[in-house]
Parts: sequence; C-alpha cells; structure tokens
Amino acid sequence: MTDTPTQLFIGGAWVDAADGATMAVDDPATGEILCQVADAGPKDAKLAEEAAVQAQQDWARTAPRVRSEILRRAYEIIVERTDELARLMTSEMGKPLAEARGEVAYAAEFFRWFSEEAVRIDGGCATLPDGRNRMLLSRRPVGPCLLITPWNFPLAMGTRKIGPALAAGCTMVLKPAPQTPLSSLALAAILKEAGLPDGVLNVVTTSRAGEVCEPLLRGGRIRKLSFTGSTAVGQLLLAQSAQAVVRTSMELGGNAPFVVFEDADLDKAVDGAMVAKMRNMGEACTAANRFFVHRSVAEEFGRRLAGRMGALVVGPGARDGVDVGPLIDRRGRAKVEELVADAVERGAQVLVGGRTPEGPGNFYPPTVLADVDPGSRLMDTEIFGPVAAILTFDDEDEVIRRANDTPWGLVGYVFTEGLDRALRVSERLEVGMVGLNTGLVSNPAAPFGGVKQSGLGREGGRVGIDEFLEYQYLAVPVR
Ligand code: NAP
Repeated sequence: MTDTPTQLFIGGAWVDAADGATMAVDDPATGEILCQVADAGPKDAKLAEEAAVQAQQDWARTAPRVRSEILRRAYEIIVERTDELARLMTSEMGKPLAEARGEVAYAAEFFRWFSEEAVRIDGGCATLPDGRNRMLLSRRPVGPCLLITPWNFPLAMGTRKIGPALAAGCTMVLKPAPQTPLSSLALAAILKEAGLPDGVLNVVTTSRAGEVCEPLLRGGRIRKLSFTGSTAVGQLLLAQSAQAVVRTSMELGGNAPFVVFEDADLDKAVDGAMVAKMRNMGEACTAANRFFVHRSVAEEFGRRLAGRMGALVVGPGARDGVDVGPLIDRRGRAKVEELVADAVERGAQVLVGGRTPEGPGNFYPPTVLADVDPGSRLMDTEIFGPVAAILTFDDEDEVIRRANDTPWGLVGYVFTEGLDRALRVSERLEVGMVGLNTGLVSNPAAPFGGVKQSGLGREGGRVGIDEFLEYQYLAVPVR
C-alpha cells in the first residue's frame, strides 16, 4: 500500500522512535530493502504501555455494542482492501498472492467473529446452598495486554489476538515480528479509521524485542501476555511473566504427525498432505512435520505426493501462477538445508527437490524424502519449510506411540476410512487439534491451540474471548 504507515502507533498518533532509530524491512523474494520502519526502544514501549493503561477504564466501560461495531467496521474495511493488504503481506513475507488473499479473509473473520462475541459476554446469578447468600457473577476485562506475534501469518496472528481483546474490553500494546511490521501497522490504521479510541491499541515495531518487552512484563501494569511464536521464546516469556503474575496465553511450536493408515483414501491423503505441508510454504505451526505412512501404501503415497510437489511453481509470491514463494530469510532456509542434508546422510531417499536454487531470494524447492531414519534431526525439529519426511509403520499402537513421542502437541492429521479407528486414534493423540481426513484445521469459529509444549489456552471459537476476561464474584446476603 503506497500510504502504509512506517512509524510507531502510540496513543492514536503516528510517531518516530524516541531515539530516531529505524530498521529495514526486506523483500524475501529479492533480498532488497522495501522500506525503513521505526525501531522502538524501551522508552517508546513505556509510552505505549502508558497509553494503554490510561485508556483501559474508559474502554472497559464502553458499551459492548460500540466495541462490537468498531470490530465489525474494521472487518468490512479489511475485506474491501483485500487486494492491497494481500500485496503488502506478500511483499514483506513472501507468500503467494492467492495465499495472502486467503490470509486476509481468515484474518478479517476474527474481527467479524469477535464483533459477534463482544455482545454475548454473560455472567450468572445463583442462590448458594445455604439458601441465604446470593452469588452475582460478572466478567470483566483482564486489563492492558501485551500481544507478541510472529512473521508467518502477519495479519491473522494479530487479528486473532486483537479481536478478542477488544471485544472483552482490554487495551493493548502489540509487538509484531520485525520481518513483517507493515501488515500490523496497516491494521492499526484500519482500526483507527473504524473508530477505535486513541490508546486502546498501540503498536511498537522493534528489532529489540527483549529490551522492549521484558520491562513491560515485569512492571506490573500489563495484566496479560498473549504470545505466538517458538516454544523457546514462550518459555522465556513465561518466566518473565511469573514475577508480576501476568496471565498468559501461549501459542507455540508444533511437530505435527500426519498418519496415513492402510485403509485411507489415498486421494484424500495426498490432497490433505499438500495443504498440511505446503500451506504457507511449510512455514506454519500446523505444518505436517512427520509423515507416518503404513508400510503397505507408503511407496504409492510417496510417489503421488512427489508428483504433486514437483509440479508446484516456485517463484516470487507476487508473480502470477506461483504456488510456492521464498522462505522468510537466509537463516530459515539454511536451517531447512541442514535438516535435509542430515536426513540424507542418514539414508533418506530424495523423491523430489532437495537442491537450493541459484540466484537471489530465499527460495527452496518442494521436497519429499522417503525412508527417513527416525533418528534424523527433522523428526524433533520444526522444519518450517516445504519438506515432507516420510517414515513407515506397521500397526496402530506403534504409530500412536511414535506420533506422541515428542514434547509438542499442537495438531495431528489422521487418514483412515474406518470410523472406529478414526475416533480411537484421534482420542489417543496428545494434541489440541486433529484433522480427520483433512489437512486444514484453522477456522476462526474453532478453538485453536495445543497441549504439552505447544502452548496454553485457546484462540478463536466461543472460548477465545475467555482468555481476556476475569470473573468477578459479588457476594450478596439476603435477609
Ligand atoms: P519467535 O522467534 O519465537 O518469535 C516470535 C515473536 O516473539 C517475534 O515477534 C519475536 O521478535 C518475539 N520475540 C523473540 N524473543 C523475544 C523476547 N525475548 N521478548 C519478547 N519478544 C520476543 O518465532 P518466529 O520464528 O517468529 O515464528 C515461528 C514460530 O512461531 C514457530 O515455532 C511456530 O510454530 C510458531 N507459531 C505458532 C503458532 C500457534 O498458533 N501455535 C502460530 C504461528 C507460529 P524478534 O524476531 O525480534 O525476536
């Protein structure tokens, strides 16, 4: 967008960093610098926190219908500007335009969903067992929040947090990932246009995440942290949040198993694999990381998947007809290269891909590896790239044990035509979400989140707003 803001958004105003610092935003398809944005330091973060704290009481008292309509208006503006927002996202993140448009729709839907939830915050009233005391229960916003988002879904990870926080009556400081600040700044401009009062949302773009966030978490004024990112950073932020007893929601990493039984419909399984692996070039927490395929169908599955993966067009996301854009940066691509090299060294067969192309941009080809050794590093590392690693199994108990043999538990995919088996296996998988004969689970109306080291709490669905509300109990004796 030609007029995309590049400054910090604090107290409803666009401002430079106090020390004048800026940081570059790169185009991952070319490696060239797209623009400079303000690079906030601790002083700016304190100002943003102050603005959120000052706005909290009024926003909490704003009628739910008013909060709802601001979200609804923002939803409409996002939908009207789908194309502009998609182009902006592709320029800073790399994903193909068609996927970026899909993300804009997904992101907008969180605002529509939570505009509907804002007016349905309920409480309760009861006569207690002694027959004398009454209990009035109301639900109140938790208070000013710190929202920290990753680069892989630059718009949707923001709306998935901002939507319920606004609906609940919370104010906030948003810190987006430094690779993709532009989508968040564009979102702030849209919310301002939709009528959001000054100070309710503040955005600090920064390359100094630790310096900016730690004082806020330890300071006692921020009451809630909602974080999406890697498990390692989530663990650090949980420790920092402990001191001021900050409530936390954590959407962390995954290591999704994708299980194909001998009775699966292989067409469905390959279609599902393409989505579960290739959505967002594999740079998704929900990406299938370990393909466990029954020995009797493994060769056929591998052959078909390699055919489909090999037919994908790799190139700059903004170019027509491109299916697979660049990875986010050189570091991300180097990690994928190392994981593939390690698997090949341990005996994996490369069915397709596996070679980094020459030239600019962080491109990596869709790759299928068969006969992967279970000891390979990519079995216990998020690949975060377009690489499908296939292992074989012989029976149900064995595959459940292997699928669960990981500290993560975000999502699992199960392909079988047997209803009994589908339910039995889904119930035994240690994950927050299961895709049954499908490679896509994300939906704003469903609770998204994981178990084990994949996180705490849920985003989206009826329960998404709960993360931003506290109960208040009023004791009323009646004589
Ligand atoms: P990351 O390195 O953990 O970073 C996520 C965010 O945290 C970024 O904004 C980052 O900023 C910030 N951050 C890092 N260190 C921080 C600190 N000390 N204090 C405050 N903020 C800090 O993750 P990523 O590489 O951007 O994203 C990929 C990860 O996100 C994967 O593990 C993926 O599975 C996970 N993810 C999970 C979900 C989910 O819903 N479960 C969804 C999407 C992604 P800097 O880059 O400046 O450090």
